[in-house]
Amino acid sequence: MKNHKLLFIFTLLYFGLGFLNIHFALLGLICMALPLILLFKDKKKTWCQGYCPRASLYTKCGKTTSKFSRKTPSFFIKGNMKWIMLGYFIVSLSIIIISTVKVYSGANQPMTYLRFLIAIPIKGEMPQLFHMDYFAPWITHLSYRFYSMMMTTTTLGLVLALFYKPRTWCTICPIATISDSYIKSTKK
Ligand code: SF4
Repeated sequence: MKNHKLLFIFTLLYFGLGFLNIHFALLGLICMALPLILLFKDKKKTWCQGYCPRASLYTKCGKTTSKFSRKTPSFFIKGNMKWIMLGYFIVSLSIIIISTVKVYSGANQPMTYLRFLIAIPIKGEMPQLFHMDYFAPWITHLSYRFYSMMMTTTTLGLVLALFYKPRTWCTICPIATISDSYIKSTKK
């Protein structure tokens, strides 16, 4: 099964909605939960094989430079790169959860800007077409953190798609690593 060609529109829509209002970033939670729900239900990578909007975007963008693309680095396929990315994902998720709890408890101020790779702040306010001031500060914080994580991984995937094969990111994507480990454990 191949990803539908137009699924990339959902990825663009997701990042576009963030400019309408950052709280739409929480829709990304669905994107994170669905692959795992389908994995546990089907015992295979149903999401990756047919429904991932990000893979669709990488395919779309990677095709434009496919003439110049290089072979996927072997340490992506056989080396530790996927475990490094999984580590980044776990650290990133832990920081999101811990910092959100701290904002909720009043110990920290909410983050109201984007960050690249957890630590690099992106200067300037993100334009917001309309405001939703009725959301609690911890929800706003969670939204910026979540959008930052999605932005970081999508950017990394796009860069890889431009230089290597379109779906090179899929070889080190944390969801793929978790899925592969789960499928292997069910076969045992
Ligand atoms: S490996 Fe990651 S980016 Fe690739 S299809 Fe699966 S969830 Fe999407």
